[in-house]
Amino acid sequence: MPGTHILVLGGTAEARQLAAELAARPATRVTTSLAGRVAQPRMPAGDVRIGGFGGPEGLGGWLREQEVDAVVDATHPFAAVISAHAAQAAAAVGIPLCVLRRPGWSAGPGDRWHPADSLADAAAQLPALGRSVFLTTGRLGLAAFADLGQLRFLVRSVEPPEPPLPPHTHVLLARGPFTVEGERELLRTHGIDVLVTKDSGGPATAAKLTAARELSLPVVVVRRPPAPTGVALAPDVAGVLELLGGLLSRAAAGRCP
Ligand code: NAP
Repeated sequence: MPGTHILVLGGTAEARQLAAELAARPATRVTTSLAGRVAQPRMPAGDVRIGGFGGPEGLGGWLREQEVDAVVDATHPFAAVISAHAAQAAAAVGIPLCVLRRPGWSAGPGDRWHPADSLADAAAQLPALGRSVFLTTGRLGLAAFADLGQLRFLVRSVEPPEPPLPPHTHVLLARGPFTVEGERELLRTHGIDVLVTKDSGGPATAAKLTAARELSLPVVVVRRPPAPTGVALAPDVAGVLELLGGLLSRAAAGRCP
């Protein structure tokens, strides 16, 4: 990939791994874009820009201005808005896009999972499942749980959660990866009897699921938004690198008469 500029839409561990791989390649410039939600993000290799683009048009303008050759959407599986914008902008500018989506988790023997279509659906299910909730769905959208005054919540997030929060809430600021021992201890110490999680997938935050299984706790699992369709999709960094090679060669061949 000589003389290529790749934009990685980041905010995940895989995006950092990808940036490190690309930055180590000769004649390759990699820029990672972060949304700016976290005050002290883990910085990737290569160039970094922070903050929204101003919708798909803003992103398209940036791609043209910075002469980007390909975009990798390596955002979190629940970051559906930026993924849709990336697809629109790459198509409008006429450059390849590939999407890195780590696989979701799947239930195994002993798991007591309750699928939910949204945070509101998860909140509606909770009163029938427990009284003391470990809520690990991130710092946003917790208003869905704010009316559950009869339940106690332990909310864990990297940055302080955005109000409104449920009245009986204890906030724990922490960033993964987490261990099964640590998660087991946390569940016991706080007397947790139900866990709520997004189906984020990946190893960094999976230990809570193992701990919940060991303690036979119910887990409400919020389903992912649908994966983008009609785009090149890979489950990991190696897959994206392979896809990128092919996409960039085809794009270069298309430009040659
Ligand atoms: P979102 O709902 O899909 O995006 C909302 C807006 O935030 C986008 O329209 C865009 O603003 C801006 N944005 C999002 N990701 C961006 C990026 N990588 N670079 C520049 N601008 C970005 O996304 P979100 O759920 O707020 O997630 C934001 C970031 O946090 C993502 O990078 C994601 O990987 C990470 N993250 C999300 C979750 C989650 O559960 N959603 C969990 C962990 C990490 P403009 O329209 O102005 O361009």
